[in-house]
Amino acid sequence: MSSRDEQVTRALIVLTLVGSLTSVRGADLGGVAVALDAYEGPASVAAEVVGPFKLQLTVNPGTENRALAIRVSLPSSGPRAWPTADVEVRDAEGKAMMVRHVGIEWGKLIIPVPAVAAKYFVQAPGPREGKPKPPTEKERVLVDGPTGLRLGIAKWYDGRTAALSIRFDDSHPTHLTKAVPILREYGFRGTFMVNPGPPEPGSRKRYDFVDHRAEWEAVARDGHHELANHSAHHRGVTGDDAMEAEIGDAARAIWALTPGKSKLMALNLGGGTQWETTRTLRYYLDKYHQFDASGNSTGMDDSYGNRVENFRRMLEQHIERGLWLRIHYHYIGEGLSSSEANFRAAMEIAKAHQPDLWIAGMADIHKYETERNAARLTPVRSDATQLEFQIACQTNPELYDQPLTLELTRSNPADENRATIKDAKGQVIPARRGEADGGAVLRFDVAPRDGKYSIEIKP
Ligand SMILES: [Zn+2]
Repeated sequence: MSSRDEQVTRALIVLTLVGSLTSVRGADLGGVAVALDAYEGPASVAAEVVGPFKLQLTVNPGTENRALAIRVSLPSSGPRAWPTADVEVRDAEGKAMMVRHVGIEWGKLIIPVPAVAAKYFVQAPGPREGKPKPPTEKERVLVDGPTGLRLGIAKWYDGRTAALSIRFDDSHPTHLTKAVPILREYGFRGTFMVNPGPPEPGSRKRYDFVDHRAEWEAVARDGHHELANHSAHHRGVTGDDAMEAEIGDAARAIWALTPGKSKLMALNLGGGTQWETTRTLRYYLDKYHQFDASGNSTGMDDSYGNRVENFRRMLEQHIERGLWLRIHYHYIGEGLSSSEANFRAAMEIAKAHQPDLWIAGMADIHKYETERNAARLTPVRSDATQLEFQIACQTNPELYDQPLTLELTRSNPADENRATIKDAKGQVIPARRGEADGGAVLRFDVAPRDGKYSIEIKP
């Protein structure tokens, strides 16, 4: 039985939940917790799973006449995870409800409701229709008999074992004075989550970007680092129009700094903020070419304790498992969130592991992962000296423009230098020799778009 079926079966179990979240902990709602927020009194809310990713809430006001708020906590990871970016709440008439979210935990919802008997639905639509089926891992490998060639799409760019992104939040001046030059010393690419403003009353702290606008423009022009969306003002919003402006204005400000570049960028709505909207997060992500980069990141502030050793341990784990490690910093410098010494110590550890690591921007890594998952290799024709193949990518090349690395090995031990790779126009694609699983491999990069290539082997 699939976990979805189990969730539906659990619909038979109806819980009446009053008061704190602790009273509803347990597996009965597929890991979902529901309660009235900060409430003790006569009203109650019952929750029932009525379909895959569909929860029905029933409010029984009792004798209560003050407004209520229902708190819903959806699992965002693990086998029972909800697609939290796609979640919306509707009333029994199908009207979208205003929902309050905590900035970096989109699966935590607070739904303000009147004290009247009513039903509400917390739901995420099923897989979007018309979307082509993603290729399987097997379809990213091509084994050709006549040439004895084996071709695959590397897990990470350049055949590196794991990926590392280094993020900096809040467009703090020390990013310009410390982070940018230190990263430059190491040759690492950072991701800078900025609040580009414009300034407005009540968000004085976030004038930093505007005060240093020329320097941020220089960072963008230089192109070595990546800028990302941390919302216009880092203060959260109430209402759809305000949310649209906070995300849209920041996106447009960054696009203006990076003309001609892909519009795809990382979005992180920021810790300590609250966002009230009737819409799904997906609506904003899709409209502004953003991807949600809030979660699953390791904070590097010194106050968390033992950051440098923790980073070493996590990095080694991620290399062992071939995964993407995301870390984030706030302010760099003595007496600030991270001391310069600790920041440098972590960079030294990254440098020591550099042969295994693709250290890149969050959008670069997100693009590679998404492109690779949507790509397949197919043979066109082959004989003893030549293989023609095709790569097909389902991603939009306007947004997804990170080159993919292909890895070529031969079943017969042979000199890879003798293979010549050409694109459909006959242009030679430069290749570099490397090692994978102890054997020789030839690596070359291709654009993440549909294309035909040939590999010639000199006898
Ligand atoms: Zn922040």
